[in-house]
Amino acid sequence: MGEKPLHVIVVGAGLAGIAIAHGLRKHNISCTIVDRETVPRDRAWGITLSWALPLLEGLLPPELVSQLQACQPDTSLPVSSAGEQGVLIRDGLTGDIKIRILYPGGVRRMQIQKTKRVLSAGLDVQYGKRLVSVSYNGNDDDAEKSVTAHFADGTTETGTLLVGCDGGASQVRRCLLGEEAAAQEVLPYAFMNFSFSLPADKARWLDSVMNPSVDVALHPKGMYMGLFLLDKPDLARPETWVFYVLVTWPIAGKEDEENSPNRLERLRAHIDGWADPYKSVVEWLADDVAIGPDWLRIWHPKEWDNRGGRATLAGDAAHSMTFHRGQGGNLAIKDADEFVKCMVDVKEKKISLKDAMDAYDKGVLARGQEVEISRQQAAAFHDYDNFDDSPVFKMGIKPAAS
Ligand SMILES: Cc1cc2nc3c(=O)[nH]c(=O)nc-3n(C[C@H](O)[C@H](O)[C@H](O)COP(=O)(O)OP(=O)(O)OC[C@H]3O[C@@H](n4cnc5c(N)ncnc54)[C@H](O)[C@@H]3O)c2cc1C
Repeated sequence: MGEKPLHVIVVGAGLAGIAIAHGLRKHNISCTIVDRETVPRDRAWGITLSWALPLLEGLLPPELVSQLQACQPDTSLPVSSAGEQGVLIRDGLTGDIKIRILYPGGVRRMQIQKTKRVLSAGLDVQYGKRLVSVSYNGNDDDAEKSVTAHFADGTTETGTLLVGCDGGASQVRRCLLGEEAAAQEVLPYAFMNFSFSLPADKARWLDSVMNPSVDVALHPKGMYMGLFLLDKPDLARPETWVFYVLVTWPIAGKEDEENSPNRLERLRAHIDGWADPYKSVVEWLADDVAIGPDWLRIWHPKEWDNRGGRATLAGDAAHSMTFHRGQGGNLAIKDADEFVKCMVDVKEKKISLKDAMDAYDKGVLARGQEVEISRQQAAAFHDYDNFDDSPVFKMGIKPAAS
């Protein structure tokens, strides 16, 4: 182990990167956190933080734990009542409940854009730094070895190790494994994820009939749809509330295959036979609602060479999965927690950097089995007759590696 103080380069200021940077800061471990974004992305969604919520609270400084409520789509929703109402899965044909998964300890819905904004406080995230490559200084077993991150603006950052928290299309992953092995798989489903608002009376009605955290359904025609709240900027004015839809169905023709821009038309053609609230919502959508192109992409983790403990991955960069079992964000936090624990042990000289990272990587790979389970869950949401045998029935949304 070298005598130079540890310095960690965190690439990506999403959920995993932010949680890692706070955890390191709490333990006085030096780190630099960078993100390629210069302005927040226009895409947003919500995450149900369930089993990983206590881990996130442990990584954050107390002043940000008290800000978690501000990260919610509905800042007035108590964690306990979100847990009591849980995740609701309905029959899309009738609107009846198929299963309700409860969390007696409470869950927190987190809106991804608010979460990134609120929780990046105090971290000095360096924005506009897009990592393009990684180089290694010295041999893997040198005491004084280091790693250098190279950014698109020509600048570099050198540290003891680098952790790629740069999401599903991770560049760090490409650097570690090469283009082919790091490439994501595209699942054969049409996928739409878009937000919308409604006139006050309709918004109030939808809010009253919708489950507050997760309200999803599957239809016998082999289709999945979910309705969620994205934001309530003014609690007293329902016309300002923003909802969003997630919808998937197996690719059925050329237009789905090419993801042609007539997405609203294709969605409307699929809504026949759906019960409320899903049916009315689609019928009420304005003709000019923006539905961008989207694909369901996953990546099954494969072993990488961590170069003597100098480079690793966390979150979606390490295992990207579909949202159908609500695990990706929870696993990103679990990775962060495990990574920080390893770094504390290295700092306290209880373990070498290499051994710590080997153990961490092994855990990440084990947690990565969720990619396949979530893929099976995605398939099950399009297989009405066999849905009751699917992972959510057997395991709820407990982590697979627990
Ligand atoms: C619609 C939807 C619903 C979901 N619902 C749930 C849910 O209910 N429960 C749950 O647990 N999970 C859910 N997830 C998954 C969850 O959102 C992700 O698993 C989680 O956000 C991953 O966090 P991350 O930090 O690994 O990656 P990201 O949040 O993608 O962050 C990656 C960051 O890296 C930056 N970056 C990318 N490339 C570079 C580069 N080259 N250089 C520098 N920076 C870079 C990006 O700008 C970004 O800020 C859902 C996902 C979606 C899409």
